[in-house]
Amino acid sequence: MERLIEFYQEMGVSPAVYHYGEAALDRLKDRFDEIDKIAEYNQAKVLSAMQKNRVSAACFAATTGYGYDDIGRDNLERVYADVFHTEAALVRPQITCGTHALTVALSANLLPGDELLSPVGIPYDTLQEVIGIRPSPCSLAEYGVTYRQADLKEDGSFDYDAIREAINEKTKLITIQRSKGYATRPTFSVAQIGELIAFCKNIKPDVLIMVDNCYGEFVETIEPSDVGADMVVGSLIKNPGGGLAPIGGYICGTKTCVERCAYRLSAPGLGQEVGANLGLMLSLYQGFFMAPTVVAGAEKGAIFAANLYEPLGFRCVPNATESRHDIIQAVELGSEEAMIAFCKGIQGAAPVDSFATPLPWDMPGYNDKVIMAAGAFIQGSSIELSADGPIRDPYAVYFQGGLTWYHAKLGILKSLQEMVNAGLAAI
Ligand SMILES: *Cc1c(COP(=O)(O)O)cnc(C)c1O
Repeated sequence: MERLIEFYQEMGVSPAVYHYGEAALDRLKDRFDEIDKIAEYNQAKVLSAMQKNRVSAACFAATTGYGYDDIGRDNLERVYADVFHTEAALVRPQITCGTHALTVALSANLLPGDELLSPVGIPYDTLQEVIGIRPSPCSLAEYGVTYRQADLKEDGSFDYDAIREAINEKTKLITIQRSKGYATRPTFSVAQIGELIAFCKNIKPDVLIMVDNCYGEFVETIEPSDVGADMVVGSLIKNPGGGLAPIGGYICGTKTCVERCAYRLSAPGLGQEVGANLGLMLSLYQGFFMAPTVVAGAEKGAIFAANLYEPLGFRCVPNATESRHDIIQAVELGSEEAMIAFCKGIQGAAPVDSFATPLPWDMPGYNDKVIMAAGAFIQGSSIELSADGPIRDPYAVYFQGGLTWYHAKLGILKSLQEMVNAGLAAI
């Protein structure tokens, strides 16, 4: 379409970059169809849970103060529990982010003398301080919870021998991170996570399994709670918030685990009974309703990015053709300069703060400097088009999100344009 090409050119995407993108898209039709099928299934799943729980306008009313008898909040938790096929759920604006949700789940279910095991290598950066791998006040280590880790094998697969050896009489909880986070290992499929859970429970049937589900929700038709996880945990400013939730986190799981989480989040004895919704219910419900479609758009963006960058010689994780289990695309750019150019392009495509230039900074909870491009409606939301990464070898930028596929597409084209303009990529 000529008008579109002209418009894109006005917005800083040259016809050469546009046509390079279109050629890549031609090869992606079948994959995009498959993503749409998954989204359709997940849309039905969410819709059916909303109908079953008789969601009505009354659920959107604001509550304040203690928030006793908050029907909207309580019902949203039933909707989440039904979608994740769990006995219970804790879904709250009082959970400030994904790290907080994970911290609540861990500290509620681990007591002094217990051991935590990660069978999938080192956990996500912010979790390292939570656990005490990097010493921090109030870490689990300070409370007498020990930690063990079994690293993945060279090829990214589970090291079952090392895992068997690591499980002992103290092992109380096993944490499995689904998404790669800021690492360049593969993200696990739900089926792979299921195999790992079965292996661990076979060795120790009463061990609790928690899955850090960040960025994985709705990418497949099943979730880790469908394959034996006792708790699945995530952030509402990622996938399940659908871009509309302005804050929040969720923990779905067994009644026993979730109850403990509620006591930890509020106070022993109070649990789920308190926690006013502050008028946020409409965005939490509506965001959850939108989430399957939003996730599909973001996933298309991730695949598109891999199919633009890989042929230009940049290593992509996942690569251009392999199957997807989260919405993250890592692109190894090889230099700080290239990371800055890439992020500049993403930022320049944003609806908010498009005029800002992202630069590396010391971000709390992270060990290296981090660069972030995010022109989001919700600050820090990474279900919205965003790119970030720690400034360290291999200088990988982690690209994710996009509330609509068209926006993701434009952002990726603009990132490539910046790389081309800076002489860092040749098409
Ligand atoms: C985003 C993320 C978290 C939590 O991060 P927050 O920024 O605190 O929401 C935890 N684990 C993984 C794998 C993540 O991607």
